[in-house]
Amino acid sequence: MIDQLKKNMEDALRLINRYDNIFICSHIQPDGDSLGSILALAMAIKKLKEKANVNIIRVDDIPSDFLFLPGIDMIKEQDINEEVDLFIALDSSDTKRLGIGAEFLSKAKSVICIDHHITNENFGDINIVLSSSGSTCEIVYKFIKYMDVEIDKDMASCLYTGINTDTGRFMYSNTTYETHTIVAELIETGIDINSINMNIYQNIPIERVKLFLETLSNLELYADDKVGVVVVSQEMLYKTNASMEDSEGIVSYVRDINTIEVACLLKEMSENEIKVSLRSKRFVDVAKISTKFGGGGHVRAAGCTIYGNLETAKKMVLEEILKDFR
Ligand code: 5GP
Ligand code: MN
Repeated sequence: MIDQLKKNMEDALRLINRYDNIFICSHIQPDGDSLGSILALAMAIKKLKEKANVNIIRVDDIPSDFLFLPGIDMIKEQDINEEVDLFIALDSSDTKRLGIGAEFLSKAKSVICIDHHITNENFGDINIVLSSSGSTCEIVYKFIKYMDVEIDKDMASCLYTGINTDTGRFMYSNTTYETHTIVAELIETGIDINSINMNIYQNIPIERVKLFLETLSNLELYADDKVGVVVVSQEMLYKTNASMEDSEGIVSYVRDINTIEVACLLKEMSENEIKVSLRSKRFVDVAKISTKFGGGGHVRAAGCTIYGNLETAKKMVLEEILKDFR
């Protein structure tokens, strides 16, 4: 392990040992990696320090796909009037991503930030940030090992889910030899990966399928079909009886079209708030594009929020994307 990383883990562990009132937080619109990492870390800290008061802050709705995760009920709305000693943010590159969690962060005596986004702003007192890591769960795995806590089946199921989803089922370029080594160790604990994969991928509600059809039938192509844009409007949600979290996966589907280099999904959260998801395949840096709009992420998967209507947001993002195709 590189020295700096080891030192940061040592400092983080010291804070965990020092403080009893610990609050753990994912990002808003949580995905498998953020949920898997908060749950596994909370379980590990509880195992390390039985008397610790470990709380996980519920910052948003949890997608139905992940309700099977062990310990999911630990994620609760928390009282801001409680004493907050230590705040631990996971999988979040900046404090805007924490939603209500940011209020707990401001009250905390110390902050630890654990993340793998290249755009991470190092907002913690201690930052365990490794952009070479395919998922935050891989970093949490290393940290739990460092804590010398034995990884049990529940922790392993959570970590496996996060690694699996953030690496696109071990397929994206962020998947390494080390990813597979870690996963092999997780499987060795006896977790049921068949059941986990069925829960994540073979459990699609019919409303989501209808939303996919509606969205993809309106696919727009630009730059010789290298750029694909899809929109999920409130009207489409109403028509298909789906919810916005059902749009998860659409942008990857567009990216997977043979001609596509950049896929863009625009989600109409409300009339003047558009959440943008970007994916690329080979050469476009979508983290850079997202940063121009105050967002961030990874080179091949990033996002931002644009305040304006759908048409305005589409025009603004498309203009930035097309710069890479001139
Ligand atoms: P998604 O498109 O699935 O929402 O996000 C893709 C990646 O970009 C994820 O790693 C996510 O954390 C990051 N991301 C998405 N939206 C934002 C944003 O508004 N700000 C930042 N900093 N990162 C984002
Ligand atoms: Mn992640």
